[in-house]
Amino acid sequence: MKYIYGNFKMNSTVSDVKAYLMTLVTNTRDEKNEVAIALPYTHLTTAKEYLEGSVVKLGSQNVAEEEKGAFTGEISADMLKDVGVDFTLIGHSERRNIYNESDKSVNKKIKMALAKGLEVVLCIGESLQTKEAGKVESFLKKQLEEDLKGLYENELKSIIIAYEPIWAIGTGKSATTKEIEKTIAIVRDIVAHIYSEKAGKEIVVLYGGSVNPDNFKSILNTKGVNGALIGGACLDANKFSSMIKSL
Ligand code: PEP
Repeated sequence: MKYIYGNFKMNSTVSDVKAYLMTLVTNTRDEKNEVAIALPYTHLTTAKEYLEGSVVKLGSQNVAEEEKGAFTGEISADMLKDVGVDFTLIGHSERRNIYNESDKSVNKKIKMALAKGLEVVLCIGESLQTKEAGKVESFLKKQLEEDLKGLYENELKSIIIAYEPIWAIGTGKSATTKEIEKTIAIVRDIVAHIYSEKAGKEIVVLYGGSVNPDNFKSILNTKGVNGALIGGACLDANKFSSMIKSL
């Protein structure tokens, strides 16, 4: 089974998303692969209604570190559960880079999300500068060690790792399948080192970064890749559905 996750980022309105979801639900009716979509907070309640009875999982793109209280502008894990959200993205590079989200914060968010019964898609990945300096492995090791600090091996069943090299996100320049295979093997080795060989093998790892209808199949067929996290190319319901159907 493959995992196809979409990330809307800050796009569309609630009015727009209704037609989108109707198309997606129709086109994924008998889908055996896992299909999921991370939407803006404002869309979640409506999306839940439109996804009722479908195979499509519903996610948010972020979650608060704290449980509740004086955190103006934040949305808690309880609030997300209350409207029927299944999972949340955590640590997307846009959150880390634009909003200075630290590994410490990512770690707190993961713990909060899991405690409240949300599944987690943990986004990791290196910058171009790190890649060019030849420090991808040490960077990912530090990132994963800090993000997963204090989490138990049995909690990994509710965590998906999305490897998204920052230089490939939204740039139209995806990593090559050779690069993806090599780096995802590194990710699995790091998880094996932190937990166990079994954990390294079994953890679900997605690739993200300029996945499109042309490179989708070859990326999904790359060794070690369980699926894809798709930004720009998920915004058109027909395009997204035909990628899923092509599997
Ligand atoms: C993303 O937002 O996680 C992403 C991978 O975006 P894109 O597919 O547009 O590169």
